[in-house]
Amino acid sequence: MEVSATFDRRPTRQIQVGDVAVGGDAPISVQSMTDTRTADVEGTLKQIYSLAAAGADIVRCTCNDPEAAEGLARIVPRSPVPIVADIHHQYRRALEALEAGVACLRLNPGNIKKPEHIKAVARECKDRNVPIRIGVNGGSLHPDLKAKYGDKVTPEAMVESAQMELAYFDEVGFDLVKISVKASSVPLMIDAYRMLSEVTDHPLHLGVTEAGPPPGGIIKATAGIATLLAEGIGDTIRYSLTSDPVDEVKAGRQLLESLGLRERKNVDLIACPSCGRAEIDVYAVAQQALEAFGERELPLQVAVMGCVVNGPGEAGDADLGIAAGNKRGHLFIKGKNAAVVPEDEMVDQLVEWAEFIAEHGSEAALARVDSEKAAREAERDRLALLESQGDDANDSEQIVDLMRTRRGDG
Ligand code: SF4
Repeated sequence: MEVSATFDRRPTRQIQVGDVAVGGDAPISVQSMTDTRTADVEGTLKQIYSLAAAGADIVRCTCNDPEAAEGLARIVPRSPVPIVADIHHQYRRALEALEAGVACLRLNPGNIKKPEHIKAVARECKDRNVPIRIGVNGGSLHPDLKAKYGDKVTPEAMVESAQMELAYFDEVGFDLVKISVKASSVPLMIDAYRMLSEVTDHPLHLGVTEAGPPPGGIIKATAGIATLLAEGIGDTIRYSLTSDPVDEVKAGRQLLESLGLRERKNVDLIACPSCGRAEIDVYAVAQQALEAFGERELPLQVAVMGCVVNGPGEAGDADLGIAAGNKRGHLFIKGKNAAVVPEDEMVDQLVEWAEFIAEHGSEAALARVDSEKAAREAERDRLALLESQGDDANDSEQIVDLMRTRRGDG
């Protein structure tokens, strides 16, 4: 049984980033950014394809010099997903990126400061119907704003920076905007987004900037992004990790899938934590299964369980699972025993059955097997294990007895 929380999303306007809708009732999109030189067209496209295969809806590339702008002109027509150009200090690069046909620009108000330059870019975007992300960054806040708030980066200063940029856009009648107020401090970014969501209905792009390498970076980014999503804030997300950008996309997808905000794309592998009853090296088999499923588009929950004594019951809600016992793997589908396979074929069989279920459904898979025979075999191995290990394979009762003896009430 799939259980998903329901979050009331804060209403926002909808904009189009190429063919991807952002805001309103559009699914929350996952973004990442290439780490190649944009002038390296083939290398950048290769990475964009990997990001798209991992589930990225939108990809950003830096447009930091004329060669990068030329690279974009060659990349955009061959990209499988909309491309956003990241503009640094030179507004001319923004105009060139638009010429290259990008689907969106990202401007940092702390970097392009001259109002006439900001308005020139907004005017061009308006003519071309291309949106802009106002990307406020706590680390590169406009110096005047920082000074105004006591030389500190505060949520108020970040929101004001976004509002100042919006005011310039207003002057030229441009409003195809999404906004981010990222910081590397999780509490700061949470406060800034909360505050921003009170004063604007433009779609919001969430992220914790410079979150760092995994696993710490993933935890920090998740703490910030998930907190806001659970409050209904956020229309598109990016994990900023010091890692292969494919990891950013996987983390983003996984977060949205685990919150029930996006449909599952790949296998959700669950596994027991292992204990004294385990009949296999659960960590190793789970890792092998993870690698075997890789990027296969099988939207199923698959379980690897260390023993047939408790595994099938504990993972009874999974679409498919396997539990070890007596050198055999007991395969179960939606909690029903389906087949018995040799232990060294457990992972291969899981993949095979997952492919069948993804194509034909669980009912069709169960119709192929002698479920009663598989259940009898599983029960035989379960009883054999209970016989050899007893009811207390983890020695829990022994520990409880010891505690009681020490307390003097045993
Ligand atoms: S009882 Fe079995 S399924 Fe549960 S944690 Fe231990 S080995 Fe895994």
